Amino acid sequence: MPSLTMNMQTLANRIVAGDRRALSRAITLVESSREDHREQALELSEHLRHSPKHAIRIGLSGTPGVGKSTFIESFGMHLTALDLRVAVIAVDPSSVRSGGSILGDKTRMERLSRNKNAFIRPSPSQSHLGGIARRTREVVNICDAAGFDVILIETVGVGQSETIVAQISDLFALLLAPAGGDELQGVKRGIMEMADLILVNKADGDLVAAATRTCTDFTGAIRLLRKRPQDPDEYPKVLKVSAVQESGLVDAWEAMTNLIDWRKEHGFFAHTRREQAQFWFEEDVRQGLLAQLNAPKLEALMKKLGQDVINGTILPEKAAGMVLNEITQET
Ligand code: GDP
Repeated sequence: MPSLTMNMQTLANRIVAGDRRALSRAITLVESSREDHREQALELSEHLRHSPKHAIRIGLSGTPGVGKSTFIESFGMHLTALDLRVAVIAVDPSSVRSGGSILGDKTRMERLSRNKNAFIRPSPSQSHLGGIARRTREVVNICDAAGFDVILIETVGVGQSETIVAQISDLFALLLAPAGGDELQGVKRGIMEMADLILVNKADGDLVAAATRTCTDFTGAIRLLRKRPQDPDEYPKVLKVSAVQESGLVDAWEAMTNLIDWRKEHGFFAHTRREQAQFWFEEDVRQGLLAQLNAPKLEALMKKLGQDVINGTILPEKAAGMVLNEITQET
């Protein structure tokens, strides 16, 4: 844990200078739930606020087994070969990702983790998704200030976390596996709607034909699902890739940069970032209020009134009013 006496200006300077240990320390600080650490993290973010940043933030989602780790490793290696500096951040708690396996993340992305132009932040071990996700945005900002060119934000495609990742990313990519036509592969419609880019992975060997079919199916489906003004004509796009054979990576990167360039040119890039800032402001207020409900005094009141509501001795709306009054008085 970072020392309490550490000067945040010094830490900020070291991060900007590219010091990896400073970066890791800062992330640990940001992810800490201790009140004093929170204050320091905010101070740090304030120091980093105006430092130059230029990273493209790419959200990447896909159900377990679809090949996210393999893809990120191949794609990350491809990007670093282009002289780009890449940071990889995972949103989901490690228990979700590894299914509780002891191996966990240790064996993930071995080549990339040894690459000096890559930084891989292991999955957070906290179990509370909302908390992690809120902090992930701050982690992304710190990585941006550290001078990375590309920040990959990875999440398992199981729902809630995608919405949050989409609110952190400039571009959202969904990884799919070739499928024998079963409808949308259990991918939630909401996740599909968020995708700017669908990458059908494992387009190699016996799976090429199935990958091509999946590509065609999804191209039709996604364009029906979503057409937004911030998309140029040919987006959302569906492409085939093979993380193992490292094919399709050039096209995938080109599709990403073209979309980002287009959005920058048409003002959507900056607009989305502003909307995201507003989202996180409101979200922090909401979460802060929710956190108050966990204060012992309010928790007891909630419990008591909850029971009264069940017993029918008080109207739900009246009980809610009493709790909210209590919060107002506290603040
Ligand atoms: P994750 O759970 O989404 O991170 O998936 P992994 O990257 O761990 O990959 C799951 C399995 O799919 C592993 O056995 C990989 O070797 C395999 N896999 C990943 N990418 C490809 C690919 O491009 N082609 C083939 N044939 N298999 C792949």
